[in-house]
Amino acid sequence: MAAAKTLAILNKRIVACELCPRLRAYIADVAREKRRAYREWEYWGRPVPSFGDEKARVLALGLAPGAHGSNRTGRPFTGDGSGDFLYPVLHETGFASQPTATRRDDGMVLNGLWITSVARCAPPGNKPTTEELRSCAPWLDEEIRLLMNLRVVVCLGRIAFDGLLAHEARLGRLVSRAKFTFAHGAEYALPGGLIAIASYHPSLQNTNTGKLTRAMFLKIFMRARELAGL
Ligand code: SF4
Repeated sequence: MAAAKTLAILNKRIVACELCPRLRAYIADVAREKRRAYREWEYWGRPVPSFGDEKARVLALGLAPGAHGSNRTGRPFTGDGSGDFLYPVLHETGFASQPTATRRDDGMVLNGLWITSVARCAPPGNKPTTEELRSCAPWLDEEIRLLMNLRVVVCLGRIAFDGLLAHEARLGRLVSRAKFTFAHGAEYALPGGLIAIASYHPSLQNTNTGKLTRAMFLKIFMRARELAGL
């Protein structure tokens, strides 16, 4: 993959990516069939581009778009339960201009934060295959290379955490993962200079059961600010 010159160019290339036939077929089907509540929507139905502040010091790294969330709206964490939990916290911690995210033209602006995921097409059952994660990984490598001010990565869930470690390994900076264990709130200084913070994913499964509370999530993003010198 030739190196992209800017994040905007990279986003355009991501939206056009067709490396995973299973996922591209699935998101096209979901976009065509729609959920009854969203039948008036024209679904995005393509890989979801990343979103945020190109000067970001903090990266929020998620798993993958939701089939009827960002696969519908075309912006990460926009229009689903995970986003309804995430954006109010981002707003309260000064990263987001507003607490609600409903559509990609809702006026939301991020400050100091960039949001992306380890897979950029919604997978069936929220489970991308190992092969699909591997195919999508070069986009993350490119993105991190272009985020020149990046200091901290908040990994939303274990798969995102593993994805960040895999990124470090691909760059030859991580020989062993033995001392990097996923636990909510765990922090690690990575060999390449970034700081990783592990967090539970704000999925409904975690937030409805109290596994991840608003207070726990606020603490994660307040700590990210602190570590990033914001
Ligand atoms: S998941 Fe990633 S690599 Fe696969 S088609 Fe979507 S954007 Fe391309």
